[in-house]
Amino acid sequence: LSERLGGVFDRLTKQGALTEADVDTALREVRVALLEADVSLPVARDFIKAVKGKATGQAVTKSVTPGQQVVKIVHDELVRTLTGEGEPDALKIDNPPATILMVGLQGSGKTTTTAKLAKRLKEKNGKKVLLASLDTQRPAAMEQLAILAGQIGVDSLPIVKGESAVQIAKRAKMQANLGGYDVVFLDTAGRLHIDDVLMDEVQAVRDIAQPRETMLVVDGLTGQDAVNVATEFNAKVGISGVVLTRMDGDGRGGAALSMRAVTGKPIRFVGLGEKMDALDAFEPERIAGRILGMGDIVALVEKARETFEAEQAERMAKRFAKGLFNMNDLKAQLDQMLKMGGMQGVMGMLPGMGKMAKAAEQAGFDDKMLRRQIAIINSMTKKERANPDMLQASRKKRIAAGAGVEVAELNRLLKQHKQMADMMKKLGKGGMMKQAVKAMM
Ligand code: GDP
Ligand code: MG
Repeated sequence: LSERLGGVFDRLTKQGALTEADVDTALREVRVALLEADVSLPVARDFIKAVKGKATGQAVTKSVTPGQQVVKIVHDELVRTLTGEGEPDALKIDNPPATILMVGLQGSGKTTTTAKLAKRLKEKNGKKVLLASLDTQRPAAMEQLAILAGQIGVDSLPIVKGESAVQIAKRAKMQANLGGYDVVFLDTAGRLHIDDVLMDEVQAVRDIAQPRETMLVVDGLTGQDAVNVATEFNAKVGISGVVLTRMDGDGRGGAALSMRAVTGKPIRFVGLGEKMDALDAFEPERIAGRILGMGDIVALVEKARETFEAEQAERMAKRFAKGLFNMNDLKAQLDQMLKMGGMQGVMGMLPGMGKMAKAAEQAGFDDKMLRRQIAIINSMTKKERANPDMLQASRKKRIAAGAGVEVAELNRLLKQHKQMADMMKKLGKGGMMKQAVKAMM
């Protein structure tokens, strides 16, 4: 695939900004990559559409092709989509005993994952855990959980033959209360595919158990199916998170994107093997790289951007050394400041500037002001930016109106620019400038 991409990208034209044609060409390949990673068709389609809007018109970084740039944009968007809120590996287990309901199809890894999570809660959080198997369907399923419980050294609910899943759930809750457990896991039975009997049973268990978390366990190797499974379980039972198993295999993990997109529920954990500690917190970056299968391109673009910024700093330093400092230079600086975390961020980096940052904020020097100043410069013409001295009353009025500010604010910006330009001129003579700019960037 990478080779094919390379070929396509070579043919793309090098330009200042990504054209619609560039983006279309690259996204056609990305679409193939997504489908090969088992992202479901409608999800892939929607995703591509969203990226297309974002990518078209974006500036191309020097020394990478537009196609490579698009891949990077796709990657960043993938990470954004996959990222849930809060800590992925923090289960809600306050107010003990907390019930965690494990649901999913048969063979997805529910029982194994139940034990893995229990081990984690015991060892990492020092919780007292009870495991209960509600799997009345598969022979030896209950024994399987009991054996795993023994291996990891947590208790399991004694097996009583002939009970229904709901009866077991009730008994487990009671035992959790009486025994002073922090967490009780209910490991439900699965079917080979979704059916009404399965859903009815899980619903009944949910109503009795009132779980704090309902974790859907899905085989990471299943692609298209994962979407239906997640949709159904979310609609009928309501899930709070997803565990993606078998990610130690060579599946590309497209299921993660599909499920996240369709249910909006976060992926919390990733299963990486049969052993009890083969469970990781979900890392969007890692899965995004796998889904796209173009990690090398992403790294390349990252590098290129760094290089580009270094080149830009160099170029600016040279200009300043000559005493040149126009509105474009000022805008570049303002952009850079915003990127570095705004006024607070920049000042926070300098020792002893904490107090000044506060004072500056009180005086109205905040990120909003930075953005307004950038807006002002944006509404100037090329000529005006290069030569701010030409700004007369009528031009000022037009620019201020365009940026949605008062002319007074424009005047303040011009004054600030003038002071900075004068300072640059002075510094430029001393040759200190290059170092100063480098330190700033
Ligand atoms: P359940 O029917 O949903 O309870 O599935 P099980 O927990 O019994 O798992 C079915 C099989 O998948 C077992 O052989 C597990 O060892 C295996 N399994 C579960 N999770 C993983 C995983 O993350 N990676 C691998 N390679 N195997 C797994
Ligand atoms: Mg099981």
